[in-house]
Amino acid sequence: MRYLAQTSATPLGLQIEDASGCWLTDHKGRRFLDLIAGIAVNSIGHRHPAVFKAVQAQLDRYWHANVYGEFVLASQVSLAEKLCQIVAQAQTRATNKESPPLQFYPTNSGTEANEGALKLARKYTGRKKFVAFHNSYHGDTFGSLSVTGRDVYRKPFEPLLADVVFLNYGDLSGLDQVDEETAAVIAEPIQGEAGIIVPPDGFFATVRKACDRSGAVLILDEIQTGFGRTGKWFAFEHWGVAPDIVTVGKALGGGFPISGFLAPLSIMETLSRDPPLCHVTTFGGHPVASAAAAAALEVLKSFQLPERAAQIGCLLKQRLHLLKRTFPDLIADVRGLGAMWGIEFSRHEICDAFVRLALKHHLIVCRTLHGRPVIRLSPPLIISEGELDWALSVMEGILREIRESPASTSRKQTQAPLSN
Ligand code: PMP
Repeated sequence: MRYLAQTSATPLGLQIEDASGCWLTDHKGRRFLDLIAGIAVNSIGHRHPAVFKAVQAQLDRYWHANVYGEFVLASQVSLAEKLCQIVAQAQTRATNKESPPLQFYPTNSGTEANEGALKLARKYTGRKKFVAFHNSYHGDTFGSLSVTGRDVYRKPFEPLLADVVFLNYGDLSGLDQVDEETAAVIAEPIQGEAGIIVPPDGFFATVRKACDRSGAVLILDEIQTGFGRTGKWFAFEHWGVAPDIVTVGKALGGGFPISGFLAPLSIMETLSRDPPLCHVTTFGGHPVASAAAAAALEVLKSFQLPERAAQIGCLLKQRLHLLKRTFPDLIADVRGLGAMWGIEFSRHEICDAFVRLALKHHLIVCRTLHGRPVIRLSPPLIISEGELDWALSVMEGILREIRESPASTSRKQTQAPLSN
């Protein structure tokens, strides 16, 4: 608390000693089942041996070598090749059309990927305006914050980018705002921090049409939803649309920091000229993180983890709806896709008590960032049925405890631990 800058007054403060698979162990040797996976990062579990091996092999060769794509770094190239193929295949599955050849621009964090995507859209179209959605979350640097749809986080840092219009997510009525001035529409294919909001079928097809009609670029932020989380490699596959630019991060690195954006060559090439080096990064695509990511993609593929996420989704859907029916006084809604679910409680106090009691019972869950009393479930995709079953029984016990002793919700917490 003294030396490390704090982002809230009430950090959870769990002292992590080690992590493996779906479990975290604290300094007292207590084990916790991780139902958030570092917010959809550790999709292949903690310290996967295949990632460990790839990282070790890269550490034995070289670490940082040079910047801005000046050198050929094998782990970067191999990652880019795999990723472009995976995204192109997903786009083809989504649209039944051949995807144009893609390129990958590697960055370090989710927000940085979105910054690059927004700049690319402006440079490619020569237009300024962005259309984004209320309650979205795209990151905390100035560009990404400018298209993040929550006033409470925006206000302290204004002025942000001008020329941003916010529409209601899932609502077709405002889409005439996507016009000839619009550089890009940016959206999450399922809103994460808003409280796991799944848009209605047909919404993204109409957004896609609005972009095609006006010449705006469609940026889909798959930073939280990507790499199998929702039961498909990318969530846009649920909606039958392909974005022009897709941003990725979180699970990409198998636990190492790496992110980026992908676009057709015809769009991406605008970043290499007029002037050259107009968008560069020192550490983007670090060789060690790239090696980790390439190995993580192989794990996702060979263990068919997107398919596994869909199975997790069937189980969660059934059990969470049962919880909602059993505790209608405590649970207002449950919603999600694949291994990305939200439980909305009827009051904030219940939500905070649930997070606290879960920890007491060795389960790690957390709130979504925006205002609603929602906890997120985004477990590692390798979680077993036994582990899930145990977690859901513990959750049922916690809800009973809350119902039977209303005092458990009385300790007021203005900010829940482990958000974002
Ligand atoms: N976009 C989405 C959809 C996210 O969920 C997040 C992080 N929660 C980000 C962007 C920002 O990623 P990072 O924290 O790595 O900058």
